[in-house]
Amino acid sequence: MCNIWNAEVHKEMAPSEYSKLPTTLRTLNISGGEPFLHPDLDEVVRVIHRRLPRARLVFSTNGLLTEDVVAAIDRYKAFHESIGVGVSVDCLRDSHERIRGVEGIFDKARSTIEGLREIGISDLRIGMTILPENASDVLEVYRLAKELGVEFTATFAHNSDVYFKKTDNVQCSPESDSLQSVSSVVRCQLKSVSPKDWLRAFHTEGIIDERIRQSFRGECLAGRRYFFLSPYGDVFPCSVMDLKLGNITDVADWNELMTKEVVARTAGIVKGCGLDCWMVCNTRSLIISHPVRSALWVITNKLKKGANTS
Ligand code: SF4
Repeated sequence: MCNIWNAEVHKEMAPSEYSKLPTTLRTLNISGGEPFLHPDLDEVVRVIHRRLPRARLVFSTNGLLTEDVVAAIDRYKAFHESIGVGVSVDCLRDSHERIRGVEGIFDKARSTIEGLREIGISDLRIGMTILPENASDVLEVYRLAKELGVEFTATFAHNSDVYFKKTDNVQCSPESDSLQSVSSVVRCQLKSVSPKDWLRAFHTEGIIDERIRQSFRGECLAGRRYFFLSPYGDVFPCSVMDLKLGNITDVADWNELMTKEVVARTAGIVKGCGLDCWMVCNTRSLIISHPVRSALWVITNKLKKGANTS
């Protein structure tokens, strides 16, 4: 799945470096490993808040440290208004604990979601990473998210040296029966009354339908609409493509790093990216930049699939 936990750790950049982030950012995903283990997380969040007081801050967590996560989010929400949390759940109890290798992690993840809800956090989601061994559980995890009243997002396990530190993840075969579970989630999302769910269905369908992913080849906006910043300050177009654009600690300001030349060169390279990816950040930007295509997919598939949910 990912090997971040096992990656060699070097000296990370100082929290003050986050004050160089571009002020145009609307959403930041603070991920790990496990971000709530980071000794400087409070300071990082304060620096980001000063720089981007209205940005949506979304923390990704495995939910194991329930008390620490809830206490930290309680502190952050006292000064930052837009906070979201995504908790990783990859299967129901036994399989989740086997995949994660931690006894009790399923109940902890659930308690974390409930604890966050109790302190008033409503921007909550379950994030699931799909592998061949858990693909048949997607519908059950989706139902768990519905039962807990939180959003659900899924993605397949990506290969990347840049972030995931793993390059041998295998995707489900398109013929696998397990993928019926993903199709069922697509139908549920299409049947929802929420237009947001219809667009989530588009994302979910792209996980199993390579034709959708292929149809957007060459239209990626990585490096322009979003980017990946490593804890060492290295900036990449996304968390998959191994193309270092510069290091934030080497510059005084974001614009010094992402000059017009760098942006133009990156756009050209990204356009030719042949990697197979389908992450929430890139599908969101594809939907925004191709509203008609996305809407047509929704309309066509609501008619075809949304009417007969199993
Ligand atoms: S196509 Fe995917 S892997 Fe390639 S640059 Fe875009 S987001 Fe990254």
